[in-house]
Order: sequence, then structure tokens, then C-alpha cells
Amino acid sequence: MKSYDAVVIGGGPAGMTAALYLLRSGVKTAMAEKLSPGGQVLMTSEIENYPGFPKGLQGWELADKFANHLEDYDLHRINDEVREIKVGSPWHTIVVGDEEVRAKSVVLATGSRYRKLGVPGEERLLGRGVSYCALCDGNFFRDRDVAVIGGGNSALEEALYLARLVNKVYLIHRREDFRGHICYQNKCFANEKIKVIRNKVVEEVLGDSDVEALALRDVCNGEQTRLELDGVFIFVGFEPIIDFVPKEIEMEPNGVVTDVEMRTNVPGIFAAGDIRAKQCRQVASAVGDGATAATAAFSYLEQLD
Ligand SMILES: Cc1cc2nc3c(=O)[nH]c(=O)nc-3n(C[C@H](O)[C@H](O)[C@H](O)COP(=O)(O)OP(=O)(O)OC[C@H]3O[C@@H](n4cnc5c(N)ncnc54)[C@H](O)[C@@H]3O)c2cc1C
Repeated sequence: MKSYDAVVIGGGPAGMTAALYLLRSGVKTAMAEKLSPGGQVLMTSEIENYPGFPKGLQGWELADKFANHLEDYDLHRINDEVREIKVGSPWHTIVVGDEEVRAKSVVLATGSRYRKLGVPGEERLLGRGVSYCALCDGNFFRDRDVAVIGGGNSALEEALYLARLVNKVYLIHRREDFRGHICYQNKCFANEKIKVIRNKVVEEVLGDSDVEALALRDVCNGEQTRLELDGVFIFVGFEPIIDFVPKEIEMEPNGVVTDVEMRTNVPGIFAAGDIRAKQCRQVASAVGDGATAATAAFSYLEQLD
């Protein structure tokens, strides 16, 4: 079985930062990533709020910069999915693909995945008009009409991105007020291609072989309406990816519990980024968590030795 001082699980902003800090401290480190490094940043059209890039940059560009920064270090890359962690002392065993590796410290950085609406038609018409990624699928809807569902930053950002491609974007939110940053709200409200629909919920995604319409219900008066369109992009929040996290680790409904140093309740296991129970889920906070977790893991390894 291969042994490491540290295994980082997840190659998004949090995981790549944790790996960078561990490697720079001389820690023998592996990073397990089931897809390409970059995480959710690869699904993001444009990032305008990462410090140092006042003009903004494409999600893939930032992901590339993070990945390139690791090139000069001796990082062992495991390109597979972590399925289980067996807690031990001092060695934790990580089941990744068909292999087992062991590490004295582990950084959990698997981020989060989109939440579903859970309405009829959503699952059946996935990939046939229903999407959770404007960057991936927006191009299929050039000059057509789409809806964006949600009221947070992701929904507003992606509505703006889609407005550059499509004929019309219906931005549908179940409340009166949006949660997203005021600068995104102002841009959306000023955009001629975006029609804002408030206080309405989606009851069903309609269509035989492709999306044809949404069945909407007004939350104030219960009125039901049908909105004809070609696609629907759903951004109603995220849930942490915790399927493989051992039961010994303390959790809250919105993620893994850590202290300010990113330590979980299990010695040698740390968590960073969107997987944590926290409010701010952004690239900047994920990077900060990754650096903090790596620093705490380094101190832990020193104490063990
Ligand atoms: C559409 C959209 C727009 C956004 N816009 C912005 C923005 O403008 N500004 C901003 O700051 N933030 C934005 N965000 C949020 C930001 O991308 C996330 O907060 C950030 O990427 C979290 O980083 P992370 O490393 O914690 O997790 P992630 O980026 O989710 O990375 C986790 C990685 O872990 C991998 N993984 C998961 N499970 C396993 C497993 N079992 N084994 C191995 N690997 C695994 C995944 O493949 C992924 O690569 C946006 C997100 C989305 C979806």
C-alpha cells in the first residue's frame, strides 16, 4: 500500500491550494481528483470577484492558473474517485478507485454539487433542455428562450452569461427579493434580454422529448400559468459532497464541522472549501480554507513526529 504524509481529496480551489502549501512545506503529498482539476470553477463562465483580476477572468483560465502553479512540485496525482476513508491512528486508509493508500493526514476538499428542484419532468428532461451548467450547455440555446431558476449569485451570474447567447432569459425566483450581490442584481434588472419573474415556483418541467414549457405557480395567490420556452437552467443552491466521509466525523446538514484551523473532530483529518459547514462558498474562501488546512496538517505531522 502506498503511504503519504498527506492525501488531499478533491482538486478544486481548496484542494489545489492545500496541496500547494503542503508541498511547499516539504510534505509528501498525493491529491485524489475524480475529474480534471478545477472543480466548480470549470463550470463558471466568468469570475469577477477573485482578488488580483479586476477585469475578471474565465473560470477555466483561473482553474488553469491554479493547476499550473502545482506543476513544479512533486505532487502524486491519483485520478480516481475516493469511495471511503477508514479512520485509524496514526494512519488513515483511503479507498480510491480499486486501490487503497494510507496517510497520516487527510484534507477533505470535495466541494459541493448542485441541488435539484425535485419537480416532475426535471430528471426525465435532463440533457434535453434541463441543465445545471450555463457554460456547458448555453450554446445549445442560441437565439432561443430559456429560464434561469434561483435567486442567488450563481443564478444571477449565469442569467447574465446566457443573455449574451440566447433570445430571452426568464429569471424566475420564488421570493420577492434576490439573495445575490447587488451588483449582479443591478446588471440583471438593467438587461433588456432578462425578464424577472418574482414570487413564482416551478411545479413541473413540461415536454415530450424536449423541454417545451414550465408549469408555474404564484406563491402569493396560487395562480397557475404555463411559460413556453426551450430550456431551463437550475441554480437553487448546493449540497456538500460527503458520501465517502466516515461516520466518526462530525457533520451538520450543510457540511463537515471544523474549527477555525480547519480541523475536524478526528485527529489528522481536516476539511477545506465548500464541503465545510459554512456560509460563504466562494473561490476566495475555498483558497483560504485550503491554506489554513494545510498549515494545520503540517503542524499536526510535526507533533506526530
Ligand atoms: C455556476 C457557478 C458560478 C460560480 N461563480 C463564482 C464566482 O463568480 N466567484 C466565486 O468566488 N465563486 C463562484 N462559484 C463558487 C466556487 O466555484 C466554489 O465556491 C469553489 O469552487 C469551491 O471550491 P472547492 O475546492 O471547495 O470545491 P469544488 O470547486 O467543488 O472542487 C471539488 C473537487 O473535488 C472533486 N471530487 C468530488 N468528490 C470527489 C471524490 N469522492 N473523489 C475525488 N474527487 C472528488 C470534484 O471533481 C471537484 O473537482 C461558482 C460556482 C458555480 C457552480
